[in-house]
Amino acid sequence: MSGLSYLNDTPRRGFDYLIVGAGFAGSVLAERLAAGLGKRVLVIDRRPHIAGNAYDHHDEAGVLVHRYGPHIFHTNSQRIVDYLSRFTQWRPYEHRVLAVVDEQQVPIPINRTTLNALYGLDLQSDEEAERYLASRAEPVDDIRTSEDVVVNQIGRELYEKFFRGYTRKQWGLDPSQLDKSVTSRIPTRTNTDDRYFTDSFQQIPLHGYTRMFERMLDHPNIKVMLNTDYREIRHDIQHDQLIYCGPIDEYFDFCYGKLPYRSLRFEHRSLDQERFQAVGTVNYPDEGVPYTRISEYKHITGQAHPKTSITYEYPSAEGDPYYPIPRPENAALYKRYQQLADATPGVTFLGRLGTYKYYNMDQVVGQALALYQRIEQAQRESQEA
Ligand code: FAD
Ligand code: UDP
Repeated sequence: MSGLSYLNDTPRRGFDYLIVGAGFAGSVLAERLAAGLGKRVLVIDRRPHIAGNAYDHHDEAGVLVHRYGPHIFHTNSQRIVDYLSRFTQWRPYEHRVLAVVDEQQVPIPINRTTLNALYGLDLQSDEEAERYLASRAEPVDDIRTSEDVVVNQIGRELYEKFFRGYTRKQWGLDPSQLDKSVTSRIPTRTNTDDRYFTDSFQQIPLHGYTRMFERMLDHPNIKVMLNTDYREIRHDIQHDQLIYCGPIDEYFDFCYGKLPYRSLRFEHRSLDQERFQAVGTVNYPDEGVPYTRISEYKHITGQAHPKTSITYEYPSAEGDPYYPIPRPENAALYKRYQQLADATPGVTFLGRLGTYKYYNMDQVVGQALALYQRIEQAQRESQEA
């Protein structure tokens, strides 16, 4: 990897900060501490690469793929775009997703096109589609769960076709057992907008995520150590402060029990054909199909190549932790760990695993920048005192 400094390049010595995890949370904070405050930072990761779950690389066929499933950058925050633009140029990309329902491929989020295709309708306007959905909706008084929020909006039949099976597969739980925040990520539309996201900024790093991370971590004050678990080195590396972007329960040796995280098994395939499917991702809500979705990277990256590469996502209880599971009992258990963290000096938890939040990439960048601002302010105040 060009430009990055690895630990064995320099003699061992103490660091101001040890950062566990080279994903968005750890890398953004490392860059800020090094470039903004001149801190000496060591970033470690137990994986053999930087970029966390956003890691991309060229597979054997030469196609740029995302090792941990499709990563689409989207945000409404100009501040976050401005920050990341220091390390990358961008490629405009608006993600589109089709769902296989009743043997058809129809747009998800559900929109007017979806309704017309599924039910042989000819809804011509937003108002007509709105009236149609209102006639199907089954009002729920107290909307708490991922079932409530969808059934309330579009009724049970569409809920079962698009949400129930997908969610049961993805989370190993019925939507009635999950917070409403999970399925609320997917809106329902009465227009014909078939984009998955409507954020003001929808672009992906022109040369890939990993390249962007390389540039972020390329600073003389930052050292990177891969294939290294925090447990192996915690007593060996002298540091003043620890930033931990791994699972918070693991840091505390699961002392209150395991905090549930959902995993996935990725099946990557390279095909000797130029195109596999019509859009970047096709969802399979049918519970009889073991995977949730198939993504084809060339749609996302714009790469021209005679072959194509795709990834199937098979949800799983075992494996690397990818998703915190939003439901009340998990939030309560996380709170206990958070209280323990607050009472533990010298360590701060950050990121999707460290703070047990179902965050998108931009939200993690925002969280890391906010933590940096607090550190910077505390330093300024202590210098003034
Ligand atoms: P991570 O990227 O998970 O990084 C944490 C790192 O810490 C890991 O590399 C891990 O190896 C390391 N680590 C943990 N414990 C230890 C330890 N003990 N010692 C050493 N290292 C350790 N977001 C979007 O905005 N758009 C998308 O389209 C999108 N798609 C996604 C698809 C999938 C399948 C998944 C799983 C996530 C997706 N996300 C998406 C979310 C995105 O991946 C996260 O928001 C982001 O990567 C979180 O960054 P992070 O730094 O908090 O965590
Ligand atoms: N979802 C669904 N059917 C779909 C797409 C999403 O039921 O076709 C639900 C499911 O519970 C999923 C959640 O909405 O986990 C959030 O979807 P998103 O695509 O945002 O998931 P992610 O990309 O984070 O895995």
